[in-house]
Amino acid sequence: MLQQTQVATVRPYYERFLQRFPDVRTLAAAAVDEVLHLWSGLGYYARARNLHRAAGLICAEHGGELPRSFAALARLPGIGRSTAGAILALSSGERFPILDGNVRRVLARYFGVVDGRATGAGAQRLWELSGRCTPVRRVADYTQAIMDLGATLCVRSRPLCAACPLAAGCCARRTGRQHELPASRSAPARRTRSVFMVVALDESGSVLLERRPESGVWGGLWCLPEFDTVSAARAFIRHALVTGAAEPQPLGAVEHAFTHFKLIISPLLVHCAGAAAVMEAGACLWYNVRAPARIGLPAPITALLERLERGSIPDAPVGRA
Ligand code: SF4
Repeated sequence: MLQQTQVATVRPYYERFLQRFPDVRTLAAAAVDEVLHLWSGLGYYARARNLHRAAGLICAEHGGELPRSFAALARLPGIGRSTAGAILALSSGERFPILDGNVRRVLARYFGVVDGRATGAGAQRLWELSGRCTPVRRVADYTQAIMDLGATLCVRSRPLCAACPLAAGCCARRTGRQHELPASRSAPARRTRSVFMVVALDESGSVLLERRPESGVWGGLWCLPEFDTVSAARAFIRHALVTGAAEPQPLGAVEHAFTHFKLIISPLLVHCAGAAAVMEAGACLWYNVRAPARIGLPAPITALLERLERGSIPDAPVGRA
């Protein structure tokens, strides 16, 4: 959970998650929908799917115990070189270097590695430095210390150099380049993407949801049917739903910020009497907003469905389907 997300945000998610999944076998036995349900709003959903798949592999291939070899750990979904090294260094003091975002920043500043994030050669140099700095003894203490240094003192903006135990030898401090290091990859300009989503509400108050593909944003979560154009959304309403003469009703647009782009959702509400044909099992469901199923939903869809549940979205006009 802490990859890409701060502790304060993670804490309530972590507590709810551990309450429901107190051990690896419980997690492995759960439906992925429930795992995603408890992850909803935390973002980067591949982490949740990987954690669930890793739990399954740990139970199936390692007797329910986290493997103790670097190679077996690094084969688990979601565990890369740095995480595998950190697990072994912290749990059993084995000498493996790590290079998470915090450690990368400390090393790049201390040694003055300009392209530590920008190029493969820069990353390779940081891995070498991390290996050289990792001591033979007290590996767990060192590993925890350098991660904490990056999280508390050598922070991204306004590092607290005056309180830093490495200040005397730090290249960035000596040359006043703390804010240039590590140089980041040139970020592409933030795009805006506009989509239309159909809010198909049936007579029992249930809304049609579709499961999103595993790749791409909100992978594996349940979402309103999404279309690039309003005409595609209208065609779906005409052909896939039993609507009589009901006209879709535009609702206020919803914006959602991703790291690399802004999504603008234009919802179209339509009252209907269900689907026009049998829908593919496992790919679609009717979601009762008053008795919601435990499934993973993207945050803006949850907010939209909560508006429906509160009744702040209009009822079906009299005389329409
Ligand atoms: S002296 Fe400043 S820039 Fe250098 S490692 Fe410490 S906090 Fe980071």
